Amino acid sequence: MTTPDGIVSALSVALARQRESHEDCPLFNDPYAQVFIDAALNRGCDLPTDEASQRIDSIANYASSRTKWFDEFFIAAGAHGIEQMVIVAAGLDARAWRLPWVNGTTVYEIDHPGVLSFKNDALREHGDTPAVSRYVPVAADLFDDWPDVLRDNGFDVTEPTAWAVEGLLPYLADGPHLLFDRIDELSAPGSRLAVEAVGTGVADWLAGRGWQVTTMGAQELLTRYGRCGDHGGADTQADTVFVDAKRVR
Ligand code: SAM
Repeated sequence: MTTPDGIVSALSVALARQRESHEDCPLFNDPYAQVFIDAALNRGCDLPTDEASQRIDSIANYASSRTKWFDEFFIAAGAHGIEQMVIVAAGLDARAWRLPWVNGTTVYEIDHPGVLSFKNDALREHGDTPAVSRYVPVAADLFDDWPDVLRDNGFDVTEPTAWAVEGLLPYLADGPHLLFDRIDELSAPGSRLAVEAVGTGVADWLAGRGWQVTTMGAQELLTRYGRCGDHGGADTQADTVFVDAKRVR
């Protein structure tokens, strides 16, 4: 099979989650990561190279802490009454299957068609069903008209939304502002947004649009989850900022 666009980068992150799940004291358990790796092998997809795999190892604690932070973001959003979630560039993120969602929650996932069909086929063949009331894959390129596709699939602009942008910005070097413009337009008061960003540009931009913004650096994130020391990878992520934003009006 031809490896779909985006699948190798998505598999790299799945590999990190699979490894964390086998640690003695994992920050989370993601059994679906193994399902994706097995499905990729069975389908003859390209896997991350040895070099990419070593790089994943070198930032293992960073990658795991990041996953944990986004998990907590969604759990907190649900606890605050948000029932509409959008995972931008979801890749092989299996949160719709593995998090304890509040009844009535809808999770939309946006990514390339090939990535979403690989993911959904692999999980269906393995007998897994989403843990949310409604799961909606939105197969689209982020530079195309995905807001229309979202709305056509029941997204309600009058309802607060929780958005996650994780592991994506390096792929949008030319166009992150289009993405945040659209998220801003689609976010009712009470919406929340979590972003793994490089530098403070995204945080400043959101604050300028009236979002309440807090930020945390990579080192602080690792400290928070007790993952400092060897393989933290904080040096390679020196400019990374975790942005947690709330739309108040
Ligand atoms: N957020 C997921 C995670 O952390 O596991 C996936 C991260 S993976 C490194 C990057 C993902 O972004 C891939 O699934 C890729 O298909 C997606 N992606 C990159 N550029 C995109 C675009 N222009 N439109 C839609 N998806 C895109």
